[in-house]
Amino acid sequence: MSSTDEMLQLETEVRACQNCALADTRKNAVPGEGPVNAKIMLIGEGPGFHENEQGRPFVGAAGKFLEELLSAIELGRDDVYITNVVKCRPPGNRDPEPDEIEACQKYLDRQIQLINPRVIVTLGRISMARWFPGAKISAIHGQPRRVGTRMVVPMFHPAAALHHPKYRPQIVEDFNKLPGFIEKLESEADNSAPAEPPMEQMSLF
Ligand code: URA
Ligand code: SF4
Repeated sequence: MSSTDEMLQLETEVRACQNCALADTRKNAVPGEGPVNAKIMLIGEGPGFHENEQGRPFVGAAGKFLEELLSAIELGRDDVYITNVVKCRPPGNRDPEPDEIEACQKYLDRQIQLINPRVIVTLGRISMARWFPGAKISAIHGQPRRVGTRMVVPMFHPAAALHHPKYRPQIVEDFNKLPGFIEKLESEADNSAPAEPPMEQMSLF
């Protein structure tokens, strides 16, 4: 099956999933969206009100701000894969419970495997916790960690930056580092790639 088909299959499973209690109160599950070959994957916490209504990630106020952050580095939401730790809205936008995060993790794991992004950006502390357990976001935001061939970069949640203006310049600055991180990873990949095989003779002329 192609990656695109596998992602469609995953979306279908998520929309029908009953593996945790969030299924009982959701209107629409929100699997995620973006190209399956995206170099950057953004992982939020969970769907909010508007996401639950529309079945799409980051379509409310936080999403609008996220689009501004992306456009500052000349990216649109179509250039990145956007998803959440849990795919169904926690009632009243409460934090997802550990058992809900655990029940939903298999979908996120498959998404990471399918997309194989160069950089994972965690948005907020719930999403950060998987790679930086016990860390404080105010201490480590914007500092990438290598995980295999990838970088994971913890950042503030855009909604936090909207509610607490002091975080705003920090999230802007952290987003602005992303192109440099990608460049660094790509130049390393080029340097370690085997030399190009000799070009084949052009036989048409
Ligand atoms: N906040 C999140 O964490 N995810 C969304 O999709 C929207 C808001
Ligand atoms: Fe299934 Fe995840 Fe939704 Fe829970 S949050 S019902 S595990 S898709």
